[in-house]
Parts: sequence; C-alpha cells; structure tokens
Amino acid sequence: MNQNESEQKNRALKLLLLGVWVLYALLVFLNNRTPDDRSAANVQEDSAPVSEAVPETQPSDLTQPADTAQMPESETLPTVTQPLVPRDIYLSFDDGPCENTSRVLDILDSYNAKATFFTVGFFVDRYPDYAAEIVNRGNLIACHSYTHDVTKCYASADAFMNELVQWRQAVTNACGYLPDRVCVRFPGGSMSKYAADCSAEIKDRLFANGYRWFNWNAGDNDKWQKGNTENLPDEEYFMRSYRECMKWFDDDPETPVVFLFHDTEEGTVHILPAVLSDLVARGYRFKLLNTHPDWDVTDMSALTAP
Ligand SMILES: [Zn+2]
Repeated sequence: MNQNESEQKNRALKLLLLGVWVLYALLVFLNNRTPDDRSAANVQEDSAPVSEAVPETQPSDLTQPADTAQMPESETLPTVTQPLVPRDIYLSFDDGPCENTSRVLDILDSYNAKATFFTVGFFVDRYPDYAAEIVNRGNLIACHSYTHDVTKCYASADAFMNELVQWRQAVTNACGYLPDRVCVRFPGGSMSKYAADCSAEIKDRLFANGYRWFNWNAGDNDKWQKGNTENLPDEEYFMRSYRECMKWFDDDPETPVVFLFHDTEEGTVHILPAVLSDLVARGYRFKLLNTHPDWDVTDMSALTAP
C-alpha cells in the first residue's frame, strides 16, 4: 500500500467515525425530549388544537410506579397514625412471677420490647426460675410487696417496709442479683383505701431510703371486671380498654404512659401481640421504670409519676 492510498483510507475512516458520532448525538437528542417537547412539536407541525396535543400521560404520572398509578387515592396514601415525636411508654406487669411469665417474655422479645415486672416476693420464692428469667432476659424486676395481702402490707409503715425487706431477700435468692434502683408499686395502688392511714408515712420512708414508687395512668382493666358492663369476652374487653385509655394520650404527648397489665391474666397474654403491634405503629418506645425521670428528683414533692 503506497502513502496516498494510506492517507485516503485514514480520511475515510475519520469521516465514518464522524458520521457515527453525529448519528449517535442525534439519537440521544431525540430520546431526551420530554412529552411537552413532543406535544409542542405536534402543535407546530400539525397545527392541532392544544387540547389534542397534550399527551395522555401527564409528566406527574410518570413518577408513579405503573401498578399504583391507577389505584384510587385512598389506597395509595398511607394512613398517618404515628405521632411526630417518638413517645415513651413504660409497660408494667403485676402480681407474678407465674406460669404465664415466660410467654409474656417471649412476646415482648418478638417486638423488641422490655417491661417492668412488679413481682410478689411470695411468688418469687415459689417460682425462682421465672423470676430469674425476667432479669436474664433484660427486663426489670420490681417490688410489689411480699404477701400482696393488704391487711398485712398496710398494717403500718413498719409492716410495709418489712415486706420490702422480705421481697429483697427473695429476689436475691432467686436471681443472685438485686437492681440498683428498686421500683415499688403499692398493692392496689398508693390510693388504695387500705393504705389510707399509712401511705404518707410509707412514701416518706421509701423516698428517704432511695426507692421510687409508681402507680399507673393506663391499663387494660384485666383486674377490673366491674367495668365490663356489657359482659364482653375478656379479650374484647381488655382490647377495648386498651384502645380507649390510649386515646387520652393522643393530645398529651408530654406525659409518659405507665401501662398496667397483670401477667397472671390469660386474656392479657392473648391480646399482648396486638397491643405491642399497635404501640410500635404509633411510634412508642418501650422504657423501663428505672429510667423514669422521677429517679433524678431529689425533692419528694417534685415526683411526677402517676
Ligand atoms: Zn397487685
């Protein structure tokens, strides 16, 4: 091949490459035009009325997946049920440990939830393995007296404090451990008529000895059958009670919820998955009562717990 032939071939090759590039650029340009560009082109080229020139598919529709674009609005928009700010709930289970406790712990685990168990010392002695399981699975064991017998517990402040000593011994025996912060719940609550004569003195002595006591401001009424005036099945009544009392907090995001259950109640075990699922959907965070703000209070009159 002489030099002229070689130069001609090079020139032809360059022209071919240039042609390919121009063709590629033209295809890219045509492909990137928007529907609006195409409709504008139609108007100019065909002089069609504007209404006919607008493409059937609007650009806004193009952003939706094909399978949802045709769904009615009510099905495509999620129902907004979560509060804007995460909220705290302190789940508590009273009167155990008992044969249901392990099942309750399993359900809590499956929702990544933790709870405070206000245990009765007498049952801790009877079921030490269940008591140990509460602690070993990352939940908080707390004091609900030793006997749960209101005539004994509220015979005097001394009697109440003695119940607490017995409870501490039972938990130490069962768990080989005692929480740094012992939360206390009065049997029947601190407003119980049985506690009326000595509750003030009991509170003073608890506070002076570094304890905190906690009532509750919500519950599923699993020990309050009097409220079941329609004789609903347990689970229906408990679930309805749960829903109704949680409404109180819808407009009151600042108040932490302290929720009362009894792990001794079979119906409560049955509704627990539905309750936890609902709480998760509402954005609640599960907290233990040893992290309640009242532990930071140094003046008893400043306690906020229900
Ligand atoms: Zn109780």
